[in-house]
Amino acid sequence: MFTKINRNHQNKKRNIFIYISVIFTIIFLLVILIFNPKVKLIGDEKIILNINSKYVDQGLKVDSLYDKAKAKIIINSDVNTKKEGIYYIDYIYNYKLFRYKIKRTVIVKDIEKPMIILNGGNDVYYCPNGKYKELGYKALDNVDGNITNLVKIDKKKDKIIYSCSDSSNNKTVVVRKLNKKDIDKPEITLNGLSTVFVPLNSNYNEEGVRAFDLCDKDLSNNIKITNNIDTSKIGTYEVIYTVKDKSNNKAVIKRNVKVMEPLEKNTIYLTFDDGPRSGTTDQILDILKEKNIKATFFVTGNGPDDLIKRIVLEGHSIGIHTSTHNYAYIYSSVDNYFEDLEQVYNRIYNLTGVQTNIIRFPGGSSNTISQKYSQGIMSILTSEVINRGYQYYDWNIESGDSSFARDADKIYNNIKNKLDHDKPNIILMHDTKTYTKDALGKIIDYGIAEGYTFKTITSNTMLMRQRVSN
Ligand code: ZN
Repeated sequence: MFTKINRNHQNKKRNIFIYISVIFTIIFLLVILIFNPKVKLIGDEKIILNINSKYVDQGLKVDSLYDKAKAKIIINSDVNTKKEGIYYIDYIYNYKLFRYKIKRTVIVKDIEKPMIILNGGNDVYYCPNGKYKELGYKALDNVDGNITNLVKIDKKKDKIIYSCSDSSNNKTVVVRKLNKKDIDKPEITLNGLSTVFVPLNSNYNEEGVRAFDLCDKDLSNNIKITNNIDTSKIGTYEVIYTVKDKSNNKAVIKRNVKVMEPLEKNTIYLTFDDGPRSGTTDQILDILKEKNIKATFFVTGNGPDDLIKRIVLEGHSIGIHTSTHNYAYIYSSVDNYFEDLEQVYNRIYNLTGVQTNIIRFPGGSSNTISQKYSQGIMSILTSEVINRGYQYYDWNIESGDSSFARDADKIYNNIKNKLDHDKPNIILMHDTKTYTKDALGKIIDYGIAEGYTFKTITSNTMLMRQRVSN
């Protein structure tokens, strides 16, 4: 009886112990379940990385009810992005009693294809009457460098296939399409200048053009010329040159033809350079006014603005001589020349509203002094001024007022001896000289008495050009 009771008592005790153990185990498991931080990799477990690129570890993601800041994460990494290989990153996560280890694999290898660059592009055209000539290519690889020598070429009828592989077997294939077709228009070049000048009622002399085509070569004989020139009327006309190659590519170029008033015989064109200058230009203007004669003034950047205005107001023709008249500057480059010239153009325009295109080169177009500053510059400038819409005027009678005839009588006699009824007389004088002013009245009187007509040079006046010698 006693032992039975004792055994029952012992069984009861054991059962309680089991119960308590089970409860504790359940509570313990629950605690782990609830408070166990959930640790995960951010990003893939296995990463393939191109060699020489940058590896940025994205780390771990931790979900926990506890303060994450107190957690310790240790990352052990030996990733070397400069060297091919398999690398591991170990993440050790410690939080109080918890400790986790996660691994990531990083495989560094060359996964970049080589680059094939085709000179002339992937779509090329070649002449119908010709053969495609290889335009060249280049192959570059991120690891192997220049591997052009490894490029394999497979020629087909209308394409070329270029292929190459780098040392890691990354392969690139590039196709060049070959088009047997001429898509380039011929190139036309004018013989002579882009503007030509024809005196009224005389013949226009066609200088022609040259045309060259990459496929059809010289096409100078296949040019169609049309124009609307009427040499009996002063004005600007257009000549249109058209050429087509065998593939119907068309090129067009134009030339302006200006029909001009001719320089007339038995006529005096009084021209004054270098002014205005106070004390001489104003007196010259007085004399011209008194004699009712019009002249042409090629002005500079010097002198009073009022005299520029007066020249225009009193009906004279105004042209450009350059601003500085400094040979060393204006004749050392084409840019200098035009920069200087345009200053006077603007001066005249701003003061008078006149947009003049008549000019005179300091020293004339035949000057040789410019050689000192730039070889051949007059040959360039005499064409270039015309291409830019200017017209230049030299002279055929030099008064000598800036060289050999430095007094009024000498100037007068010199001009008197040179005047000719059978030709136009374009007289070069300088309104900056006092003796020129003193001679002017007599020159005009002589001209009138001899039956000469006085005229100005305007933008409709035929050019007066000396022979260029630089
Ligand atoms: Zn001058």
